[in-house]
Amino acid sequence: MSTTRPVRYNLNPIPANIRDNIAISEMPEGLQGEGYFATSLEKVVGLARKNSIWPLPFATSCCGIEFMATMGSHYDLSRFGSERLGFTPRQCDLLMVMGTIAKKMAPVLKQVYIQMAEPRWVIAVGACASSGGIFDTYSVLQGIDQVIPVDVYVPGCPPRPEAILDGFMKVQELVHNESLRRRNSVHYKALLNSYGIQ
Ligand code: SF4
Repeated sequence: MSTTRPVRYNLNPIPANIRDNIAISEMPEGLQGEGYFATSLEKVVGLARKNSIWPLPFATSCCGIEFMATMGSHYDLSRFGSERLGFTPRQCDLLMVMGTIAKKMAPVLKQVYIQMAEPRWVIAVGACASSGGIFDTYSVLQGIDQVIPVDVYVPGCPPRPEAILDGFMKVQELVHNESLRRRNSVHYKALLNSYGIQ
């Protein structure tokens, strides 16, 4: 007669030294007392958005390799709630442009940006995306801010993963503190209009 051995699952796989250092996200400012906590919707939305940014990597050359390292277990972008990379613009809210952008690629980049839903943010990762880098030639776009608005620039050729994470955290600050009304403001519409985006 055969006997089935019970399968044992490790229900607590996180080592104690790591588990004890896990902190939950900070509470937004608000009023609290026994049995209640009150804050503004804007702060709660900012907190949720900040910790659930979905990046869309637009990687065309070497800086993309640094981004791969940033996603790896050592640097681990997942710690920021951003392990869900998307390659579909409609489901992402952070466009990360990494690499040299040829002028003929510029309309494609702009189309990807337009297809992203609001609110959306953009990081130019590395010298090429920020300014064309060493490629001051007729065929290379001298910075993606010639075709789309950029929120954060990360310097370096290439930037190390630490620098990419620093840029990402700067975006988190923007996301956290952004007014819910900003995307409907005259100022923001004028910014998009200056790029020919409705
Ligand atoms: S900034 Fe340097 S490392 Fe990054 S894509 Fe340009 S040449 Fe490559």
